[in-house]
Amino acid sequence: MSLKAMAFIDGAWLYRNRTSIFAKLGEANGCEIDYAKLPRVFCEDVANYLDEDVGLVRTNYFGTLPSARSSFSSSKQRAFYEFLERSCGYEMEIHEVDVGGDGGHDDMWIKMALGASLMFNAAMPGSFDVAILIGDDLDYAPVLRRTRLFGRRIQLVTAHASGGVQPAVGTSLIWKSRVSDFPPLYIDDHAEEVRLVRENVKRVCKQCGREEETTWAGPEFFCSTCRGKYRNN
Ligand SMILES: [Zn+2]
Repeated sequence: MSLKAMAFIDGAWLYRNRTSIFAKLGEANGCEIDYAKLPRVFCEDVANYLDEDVGLVRTNYFGTLPSARSSFSSSKQRAFYEFLERSCGYEMEIHEVDVGGDGGHDDMWIKMALGASLMFNAAMPGSFDVAILIGDDLDYAPVLRRTRLFGRRIQLVTAHASGGVQPAVGTSLIWKSRVSDFPPLYIDDHAEEVRLVRENVKRVCKQCGREEETTWAGPEFFCSTCRGKYRNN
C-alpha cells in the first residue's frame, strides 16, 4: 500500500518566495509557474527519500482577498484562485480581509487556517501519512509538533535566501527541533521543474467554433479573430 501525502500551501509565503525561483532561473522579470505540478514535485522527493510509493491525495491552499469594502480591485486575484481550484485541483480556503489596517493580518489568518486544517486532517484516521508544508514560518512549530504526535510525518518546503544561502537561524523552521521528519526541500532547487512550459495545442473557439493553435491553457478559449472583434466593440 502506498503512503498518502497531503500538501498545505501558505499562499502568502509562496507568493513572496516565488522570487527565489525567478532568481535561480535568472528571470529578473519573473516567469510563469506550473502550479499543477508544484506540489507533485515535492511529493516525488518524499517518495524518493523513503524509496516508497507516495500518492498526493490533496493540495490545500490558504490565501486572502481584499474585502469588497476596500478600494483594492481583487478580480485578478479571484481569477488566480479560481484557476488554482479548477485547473490545478487545489482545495481552496480563502478569507476576505480588510486591507490597510494592521499589516500582519493576512499572514495571521493564513497561518491559523492552515494550522487548524493540518491539525484537523491529522486527527482524521487515514487522511494522510505525510504532510508537505509549503511555507516556512516559525509560528507553525507548535502545530507541526502536535501533528507529529499523531504519528504523521512532516516534510518542510522552504526557499533559499538571496544569494542561494540557507535561511538564517531564527528565521526558518529548518533550524527548529521536532518539527519535521525529512531534510528540508527548497522550491528554488526545483526551479526548472516548476517553470511553466506552454505547449502549442489546437483548441476550439468558444465563439465561432473554429480551431486554432494556442498556448492559452485557461478554461475558455477564443480565437484571434473573435478576440479582435471583441476588442473593437
Ligand atoms: Zn472564434
